[in-house]
Amino acid sequence: MQITRSLFDEVMVPNYAPAKFIPVKGEGSRIWDQEGREYIDFAGGIAVTCLGHCHPVLVGALKDQADKLWHLSNVLTNEPALALAKVLVDNTFADKVYFANSGGESNEAALKLARRYAKNKYGEQKDQIIAFKQGFHGRTFFTVTVGGQPAYSDGFGPKPGAIEHAEFNNIDSLKALISDKTCAVMIEPMQGEGGVLPATPEFLQAVRELCDTHNALLIFDEVQTGVGRTGKLYGYMQYNVVPDILTTAKALGGGFPIGAMLTTDDIAKHLVPGTHGSTYGGNPLACAVALAAVNTVNTPEVLDGVMAKAQLFRDGLAKINEKYNVFADVRGQGLLIGAELTAQYSGKARDFMVAAADEGLMVLVAGASIVRFAPSLVIPDADIEAGLARFEQAIAKMVKA
Ligand SMILES: *Cc1c(COP(=O)(O)O)cnc(C)c1O
Repeated sequence: MQITRSLFDEVMVPNYAPAKFIPVKGEGSRIWDQEGREYIDFAGGIAVTCLGHCHPVLVGALKDQADKLWHLSNVLTNEPALALAKVLVDNTFADKVYFANSGGESNEAALKLARRYAKNKYGEQKDQIIAFKQGFHGRTFFTVTVGGQPAYSDGFGPKPGAIEHAEFNNIDSLKALISDKTCAVMIEPMQGEGGVLPATPEFLQAVRELCDTHNALLIFDEVQTGVGRTGKLYGYMQYNVVPDILTTAKALGGGFPIGAMLTTDDIAKHLVPGTHGSTYGGNPLACAVALAAVNTVNTPEVLDGVMAKAQLFRDGLAKINEKYNVFADVRGQGLLIGAELTAQYSGKARDFMVAAADEGLMVLVAGASIVRFAPSLVIPDADIEAGLARFEQAIAKMVKA
C-alpha cells in the first residue's frame, strides 16, 4: 500500500490540517521526510521531545522495559511507576503523584480533585473554578471549558458549570471574581498556546495570596513549562511560588505519552479508592521512559544548557530582526520562545511556519501572530545556528513577497 499525505484526507477525521510532508525518521534535532528531505526541528513535537528524537538513553529505557513488562492495569502497581513517582516527589514540593496519559487527563484529575477536596472540607457550595483568558488546559470537555478560549468549547452542548475566567497578569480581575465559593484557581505560569506569555512574579505571588485568603487551591498547569523547559525542572521554581497541585505531561515522556498530577498529602487523601482512575495511567512502559527522561533532564548540565541555548536563540532572533524588522516582541522563558510579529505581519504566523518548512525548518505558532519555538533542550548549538539561518532565508523570502 502506498502511504501518502493524500491518504490523510481520505481516512482521517478532518480535525487536523497537517503539513504536506510526512516525517519518517528523527535523530537528535533533525527529521527526515518520505522524500529524504531533512528538517531542523525547532518545534519539538510541541514542547514534547525534550531530548530530541530517539535519544539513546530513552531508546535504551524503552527497549529494556519492552522486554520485561508492558502493561498491568492499576489492579497491580509496578516498579517503573513507583520509581518515577519517587523521583518526582523528591524533586518537587509534592508528596503524592497520580499518573495519567496526557496533559488534558492530568488537568481533569486536578480539577476533579479540587472539587472533591472543597466539597469534603467546606461543603457543596464551594465549587467555583477560576482560570484565565487565553489559557489552555486540554480538550476534554471539563478542561477545554476551564481553558480561556470559548471558541474551543462552544458547540458541544451544555458545558460543565461554575467556571469563570479572569485576565492573565491582571490581579484586580481575579480579585473581582474570587470569593469563599472558589475551590480552585488554575493557571499556566507561562501561557503557552495563548501566546508564550510569562506571568509576572508579582502577579503569581498575588494569585497565591488570594488563594490562601479564600481557601482556594492553586493549580499550576505545567504541561508545557515542565521538565526543564524554562531552565528549572518546573516553572514554579523560577517564581518561588508553590502551587497546591501541579500537572505535567508533554516533555515528561520525551515523546512517549504520559501525564501526571502532583500534590500534597493533605489534598491527595481525598481521592480514595474508586473516586478516579485510568486504565493506562502509570503504565510501566511509559513510566520507564519518563523516568529516564526526568533523570536526564534534571541535571545541571542540561538545565544550565537550556539557559545558554535560549540566549543563542535570543541573540540570533535579535540579529534577524535588526535586518528585517518583523518581530514586535521576542519573549518567553528558557527554550519556550515566542516571536510576536509586527502589525504589518499580524495574523501571518502560519505563513512564517510554512515558509520555514519550505527552507527545511520546523517551527510552531501560538495564535495567529506569534511564531513559537520549543526545541529539544539538548539541541546542539550548531543546529540552532543552522536552523536560524534557514529561518532567516524564509523571512527574506516573506519580506520580498
Ligand atoms: C498541551 C497542553 C495541554 C494538553 O495536553 P494534552 O496532552 O494534549 O492533553 C494542557 N495544558 C497545557 C498548558 C498544554 O500546553
